[in-house]
Amino acid sequence: MASSIDIAQFLNKELQIYNGMEDSSCNGLQVQNTGNVTKVGFAVDACMETFQKAAESGCHMLITHHGLIWYGIKSVTRKNYTNIKFLFDNNLALYGVHLPLDMHPLYGNNIQLAKMLGLKDVRPFGRYKKEYGYVGKTNTTLKKVQSILQKNGMKTDTLAFGKERIRSVAIVSGGAASDTDEAIKRNVDLFVTGEPLHYVYHLAKEAKINVIFGGHYETEVWGVKALMSVIKRKFKVNVEFIDVPTSI
Ligand SMILES: [Zn+2]
Repeated sequence: MASSIDIAQFLNKELQIYNGMEDSSCNGLQVQNTGNVTKVGFAVDACMETFQKAAESGCHMLITHHGLIWYGIKSVTRKNYTNIKFLFDNNLALYGVHLPLDMHPLYGNNIQLAKMLGLKDVRPFGRYKKEYGYVGKTNTTLKKVQSILQKNGMKTDTLAFGKERIRSVAIVSGGAASDTDEAIKRNVDLFVTGEPLHYVYHLAKEAKINVIFGGHYETEVWGVKALMSVIKRKFKVNVEFIDVPTSI
């Protein structure tokens, strides 16, 4: 027997959401509900389609990587009104966890991707005070990395300006193409991120580095998926991944 508050308190601690790192997301329980939670849904985005699917499949709580509340709420009108009303009407709680779920050393999107690629000697990666990602060593080829990503449902839009033999890979899921600069400074052979940025083309070309855009959505399903078994075991609840891809 667990309430959304019990589950949220557990996650707050487990994911170290109060780690002092700046985040535009209001991480934690964003919308409370009442009663016991017997089924929890997991998704990338807090949006109406996710909420409807979660309610239809009998979820009492939803855990998303991109929550509903960013920088706080200034008014409960339009999208805020319809989304929050739907959550209230369906007694559906919402927990959002952004950067702490990118960077978490066990459940994070980036460490999951690092494991998937079999990286060794894995260390935090990113810009000063923004080390959400990981960098690690390997001995593989660009083609092999692309094939692993493809097998796991990711995109492989590639700027293949570097070496074919890959000995180091840096990973930052989602919208982190601007970290290509840091990957160049650290001299890695391949940078894997989610969403492309136009200027990165010439940046990568002139620095002779490989960059793969795996998709913002596709690189960010891993953190919430990793939490599913944890929540299922700890609270004896049913769990379901609610897939609402954005193609971005
Ligand atoms: Zn994201």
